[in-house]
Amino acid sequence: MVNPQQRRAAKRRRRERRNARRRSAGARPTPPAYRERLVAYGARCTWWDAKPNAARLPSGLPCCPFCSGVLFECEEAAWLTIRPDFVPPAAWGISAEEYPQWLAWQRGRACYPNQAESVAAWRADTDRGETP
Ligand SMILES: [Zn+2]
Repeated sequence: MVNPQQRRAAKRRRRERRNARRRSAGARPTPPAYRERLVAYGARCTWWDAKPNAARLPSGLPCCPFCSGVLFECEEAAWLTIRPDFVPPAAWGISAEEYPQWLAWQRGRACYPNQAESVAAWRADTDRGETP
């Protein structure tokens, strides 16, 4: 004869086994794989790189390793996708054709407070003249 207490315990064991099966069946790719695809970029500076290369504030928040500025993040593919109609603002001093090269150069390098200063440093570093 099975008493109500034994019946409830058996039901709980079945439910736990079922939940364990569902958890293992629904296993997703490990979260680090997603995190590794993220890039972080300065909200107020030109630094950007893979998110694991960001520094940390004492509070634990990721920050720019050069100016300790606040960062945004997004997937690397989205960050590197440049709309075909994108035209850099004139103040940046760079053409749409040069933009991807400058962006690649800036990755992981010391930051600048704005794109114009970074572009000037990129030109000096790569011996490129001014944009015609
Ligand atoms: Zn910075």
